[in-house]
Amino acid sequence: MSSNTYKAPDYYLIDELFSDEHKLIRGAVREWVNKAVIPIIDEANQKHQFPRYLVKELGELGAFGPYIPQKYGGAGMDQISYGLIMQELERGDSAIRSMASVQSSLVMYPIFKFGSEAQRIKYLPKLATGEFVGAFGLTEPNHGSDPGSMITNFTDKGDYYLLNGAKMWITNAPIADVCVVWAKDEQGVVRGLLVEKGMEGFTAPETLKKWSLRASATGELVFDDVMIPKENLLPNIKGLKGPLTCLSSARYGIAWGVIGAAMDCYNTALKYSLERKQFGKPIASFQLTQKKLAEMLTEITKAQLLAWRLGILRNDDRATPAQISMAKRNNVLMALEIARESRQILGAMGITGDFPMMRHMMNLESVITYEGTHDIHLLITGNDITGISAFY
Ligand SMILES: Cc1cc2nc3c(=O)[nH]c(=O)nc-3n(C[C@H](O)[C@H](O)[C@H](O)COP(=O)(O)OP(=O)(O)OC[C@H]3O[C@@H](n4cnc5c(N)ncnc54)[C@H](O)[C@@H]3O)c2cc1C
Repeated sequence: MSSNTYKAPDYYLIDELFSDEHKLIRGAVREWVNKAVIPIIDEANQKHQFPRYLVKELGELGAFGPYIPQKYGGAGMDQISYGLIMQELERGDSAIRSMASVQSSLVMYPIFKFGSEAQRIKYLPKLATGEFVGAFGLTEPNHGSDPGSMITNFTDKGDYYLLNGAKMWITNAPIADVCVVWAKDEQGVVRGLLVEKGMEGFTAPETLKKWSLRASATGELVFDDVMIPKENLLPNIKGLKGPLTCLSSARYGIAWGVIGAAMDCYNTALKYSLERKQFGKPIASFQLTQKKLAEMLTEITKAQLLAWRLGILRNDDRATPAQISMAKRNNVLMALEIARESRQILGAMGITGDFPMMRHMMNLESVITYEGTHDIHLLITGNDITGISAFY
């Protein structure tokens, strides 16, 4: 859909639930996505390249750490604003949303929440402006859904910590200036360490040949006897609760973000179906096309309400991790199914880069797996209902 004709679906007048400030920030990000992302994203995707120059612009837009207090360079906004920013960015592409959501929820948030005052002052303002890019290292080659079994570890050498191990599938890794790395201490307790680009023994090779999130820079984090200054340990958190708290924030952002991708697919399919004629009529006049469109809009509307309500609960600090799992799982599958169905409405045209569906569809195959797989989130809900864990 061309940027000039874009109008977000709002079947249940959900706009009335947003404040003027919410609409202002959404409008600013929407305009920026129209101008800076949509014209270049297909090429970036085809070339398998992250458009690095957009990072500074994202910083200027306030897309990094929007809910971090202004004192540390954030915008001090609420959770609905954060959600709307993620929605607009992912309408552009999941890669752009992923970059911003890692920076905000998985790097700035843990430094703000679990870091020392010196760490906050050193890193947060630079991450907020995009001068620094951040990454979050939890997943390992042999430990994905089960991060508690991680083997990356550090030992106390008196003046410093010595870090060894490897992380895999890390968003922003090849371009990151600072990484929040989760590793076990000598007692086997998971701790967070801030690892900086250029530290001896630390490398971050890029993962190529992806068919999904091709415009995102994904890579490994490899630690071979890396000396970490003691002041780089996050002092205020111990155990898996640390990374899981960050993931709750990021998953919440995903629940909003994917609505943007779904809206883009739905709008594109609606417009095309009204213009494309077969058997002498617009294909929108056939019942089967209308069924697809009606179901898409219904699902988008349900997802919007889920995300909005979750945002209200998060503003009050009342959203549970299981509630976040439900919204992430529901909304990602919703978006993926809409990408598939909308692609069908476009017939052969839907497979080209002139339209966004295949790109969104391929991206969403990662989004349904990362930050907790679709099935793991189902089992989290099952655990919450029954009190019995079916996955550990
Ligand atoms: C593009 C991309 C970017 C990413 N970015 C990051 C990042 O920035 N930082 C980071 O730390 N990680 C990142 N990840 C990693 C991501 O979080 C993991 O891929 C995810 O947690 C799943 O782990 P896995 O791929 O090892 O799958 P596995 O854990 O091996 O799971 C494989 C399959 O088995 C199923 N399964 C596993 N255990 C159970 C069980 N107990 N019961 C039922 N089914 C089960 C899963 O649901 C899945 O279907 C990224 C991944 C991708 C693809």
